[in-house]
Amino acid sequence: MSRVLHRAGAGPALAVSGTGSWITLASGAQVLDGAGGAAVACIGHGNRRVGAAIADQAARISYLHSAFFTSTPAEELADLLVESGGGAFARAFFVSSGSESVESALKLARQYHVERGAPSRSHVIARRQSYHGNTFGALSASGHPARRAIYEPMLMSGFSHVSPCQAYRYRPEGLSDADWVAHLAAELEAEITGVGADRVAAFVAETVVGATSGCTPAVPGYFRAMRAVCDRHGVLLVLDEIMSGMGRTGRLHAWQDEGVTPDIQTVAKGLGGGYVPIGAMLAAPKVVEALAAGSGAFVHGHTYQAHPLAARGALEVQRIIAEEDLVGRVARMAPALRARIETRLGDHPHVGDIRGRGFFLGLEFVADRATKAPFAPQTGFATLVKDAALARGLAIYPGSGTIDGTRGDHVIVAPPFTATEDELDQICERLALAVADATALLP
Ligand code: PLP
Repeated sequence: MSRVLHRAGAGPALAVSGTGSWITLASGAQVLDGAGGAAVACIGHGNRRVGAAIADQAARISYLHSAFFTSTPAEELADLLVESGGGAFARAFFVSSGSESVESALKLARQYHVERGAPSRSHVIARRQSYHGNTFGALSASGHPARRAIYEPMLMSGFSHVSPCQAYRYRPEGLSDADWVAHLAAELEAEITGVGADRVAAFVAETVVGATSGCTPAVPGYFRAMRAVCDRHGVLLVLDEIMSGMGRTGRLHAWQDEGVTPDIQTVAKGLGGGYVPIGAMLAAPKVVEALAAGSGAFVHGHTYQAHPLAARGALEVQRIIAEEDLVGRVARMAPALRARIETRLGDHPHVGDIRGRGFFLGLEFVADRATKAPFAPQTGFATLVKDAALARGLAIYPGSGTIDGTRGDHVIVAPPFTATEDELDQICERLALAVADATALLP
């Protein structure tokens, strides 16, 4: 019996090794990693070069406390990330997870306003149907009721939520993109003025929504409009690219397709590709300058921040991605991946929507395509598909609560950027069979 406290009650399958897009179980079975875990394993498993870099770093120096020392890998990784923003960023702050990078972003946003003489700006506006992490600050920002429910009341006050930009579910019938964007911008503006602009620190949003929505990009013009509202009221724009960033959408940063730059950005999963636990918060020049002109330091830190092993592993992953042009590869191969999924599942009576960008695709399931009615939550359709896929040797990432955080099902397909044509084909094939298997189980 497993003594690990697992998130899924019964305990998952024991895995012993991984190579490329494949994970080998203790039983000897091979599982195709069709979602990189949760959009993490971007260069696949078992990369010897990354393993050797981590081992080399461990032999040199494995740990340094950031109050006294920095390390070459942390400095080089910061250079790489800051330069990747084309002027958007001035500094990178390294932590060990996505949630920690969101916590850091929330604190940096507040400190920015304190340094500028506006300490009353502590309120954070996020969106309903969002997930920003499981620590209490990040969970308070998250607008997904099912993930919050057990832990209500949140520990912190000072968060509110506005509408998500999820066209399939929430765009009112007959409204154009432009009119809907204007409506959503007016809603954010009303929320800011309602709370009091002198009390709002930041607006937080995922550039492409992952776990709670199934890979939903905003409609064109949305982020430009939200950026303009934030700017009008001195509110910082925080973009959470923990799932959608670091190349997953076919751009290194998903905001590069939106015509905006964030004031603060969070990244994690694809940064270390699963080889190391690492997240980063990237800060715009104006934010860094406010701290420099004020107290001179970011009043926040963790024992394992900028961990040399984590930084070295992530640096090697990012160097491989750059040298092999893997982000370009994702952009080039994504249309064919999507077309394959659409060919196999586009007409399925229980597939309501196929969406996403790059190697970050979501399928939303419905009981009825015409009405978009979801399955009853107790059906657990996304879990049925996940289990059926696993039985067919495919791991895909399921999600429930796609509508209002309480009803609706989706799965995420997020293969390694290195997946071969044949592997992408097998993912689509096995997924189609799994959806058929799950459908056969319906009453
Ligand atoms: N933000 C987003 C958008 C995420 O998808 C996640 C994790 O799924 C997090 C934050 C939290 O990251 P972590 O699980 O590494 O704490």
